[in-house]
Amino acid sequence: MQEPHVSDPSRGRVLGIETEYGISALGQPVGEELHPMQLSNHVVKAYAAYASGPGAGRDAGWDYETESPLRDVRGYEVARNQAHPDQLTDSDLGMANVILTNGARLYVDHAHPEYSSPEVTSARAVVRYDQAGDRVMAIAAEQATQRLGRPVRLYKNNTDGKGASYGTHENYLLDRQTPFDRIVSQFTPFLVSRQVVTGAGRVGIGQASETAGFQLSQRADFFEAEVGLETTLNRPIINTRDEPHADAARHRRLHVITGDANRSEISTYLKVGTAALVLQMIEAGTLGVGPAGAGLRLLRAVPAMQQVSHDPSCTALLALADGRRMTAVDLQQVYLDACLRWLDGRGADLPDAQRRENADLVTRWQEVLDTLRDDPTRLADRLDWVAKLALLESYRQRDGLGWDAAKLSLIDLQYADVSPQRSLYAALVRRGSLQRLLDDAEIEAARTQPPTDTRAYFRGRVMDKFSADVVAASWDSVIFDVPGRPALQRVPLLDPLRGTQEQVGELLDRCDDVASLFDALGR
Ligand code: ATP
Ligand code: MG
Ligand code: MG
Repeated sequence: MQEPHVSDPSRGRVLGIETEYGISALGQPVGEELHPMQLSNHVVKAYAAYASGPGAGRDAGWDYETESPLRDVRGYEVARNQAHPDQLTDSDLGMANVILTNGARLYVDHAHPEYSSPEVTSARAVVRYDQAGDRVMAIAAEQATQRLGRPVRLYKNNTDGKGASYGTHENYLLDRQTPFDRIVSQFTPFLVSRQVVTGAGRVGIGQASETAGFQLSQRADFFEAEVGLETTLNRPIINTRDEPHADAARHRRLHVITGDANRSEISTYLKVGTAALVLQMIEAGTLGVGPAGAGLRLLRAVPAMQQVSHDPSCTALLALADGRRMTAVDLQQVYLDACLRWLDGRGADLPDAQRRENADLVTRWQEVLDTLRDDPTRLADRLDWVAKLALLESYRQRDGLGWDAAKLSLIDLQYADVSPQRSLYAALVRRGSLQRLLDDAEIEAARTQPPTDTRAYFRGRVMDKFSADVVAASWDSVIFDVPGRPALQRVPLLDPLRGTQEQVGELLDRCDDVASLFDALGR
């Protein structure tokens, strides 16, 4: 029997999010400063040591200098480097790269510690595993601080304010048959306009904050092209990176690099949920026939990206290719209206859980757009950029500060600090000023336990139970060294929706060692 096609609506969608965190160490002794890459390496190793320690419910001791029982998974990068032998990645340079028991990847990328969430099937689960990543980084910073004897700070932001930007990537599994030029034309205006919802807020305008002021997005000023392969230079709004980590004949992993790293749960939920909805419509080909189709092209998408971000009033008019002018909020409304029509008709055959989530997403999306039209400041209880702006304005008024005041940049940075004690975002949550979607217990559970409905379940469980026998792991396979077997054993996981708790949970519960697992698998 042929496997069901991924665009078969009875199958779930597949999503994941990656974040490179900003890093700094305070009070480093002169002459002994650690390079950010070394610092990031300490952070990743410190977390791996913590997560495998007795306090974390695992009994394996860990030699911090030499070995990680969560296994260094350098195999991850091998395929890519064989294709580009001149491009050495951080892990070739001996940087830590580990798989966590929740199925996530924790590693050093571009001199930043990065957490790549496990694959999940709902926007809510993205939020859960994204917030779990923030917890991982908070613990990692604490542990690294203790080990190094100098305060290590990690920030969930996307720029140092001095010209450098680091990414938050959303990943969406798409049907290979979806024409790429359709994705480019229909998804670009969505990505440009969604900043009014998804921005994390930033003090400073221009890549190196050349102009004083506040803008919606951390990332907008770093986009210089409409379409391209790069992610760190000449950044494109639509990234053509195409490593599906799945059957490439049937799937594409759309790698979305325009998004901000959000602290607010509602911002992340809307960011990923609305994009997934719009992509489903683009895949289904239903967006092209409505008003959100070919007619909705922006005249110049890159300057529009910056125009939207630089306008906290959300009233700037964007020039469309057909001569019309529209606000970002109205552009978002066109997409939302198309979603509502689609959900009314074809969306009906989606799985129940997806249908419920979609209904919740479009309700919240509409409320946000209505409020943006009416009075954006009333969204300080939901959206990062508005919450941050309200906080900044309160200091500006109290202390009579101009936008060039250093204190405001510090507040921006402190909002993003992952430490629950130091973070201004966390303080707002504690005060009840920001709405939440999840509770702390769900997030803490997600820090150590994998999602149950994707291949991340198998990956996470074997890292928990058999990590000593795992030689390498990647998104689409795990390689074991099984005692008593001369050859390494590779378990392929090419289908992201196989290897779930339903399929392998009982088997994994039952097997006490990896040899019995392979016997039970009949291999
Ligand atoms: P980088 O951009 O940092 O160079 P990358 O985008 O290739 O790396 P990772 O950092 O390894 O990749 O993260 C991959 C992300 O994609 C993870 O969040 C993972 O959950 C998600 N993912 C993996 N496979 C799929 C898939 N088939 N479809 C959608 N998302 C996927
Ligand atoms: Mg990555
Ligand atoms: Mg990426």
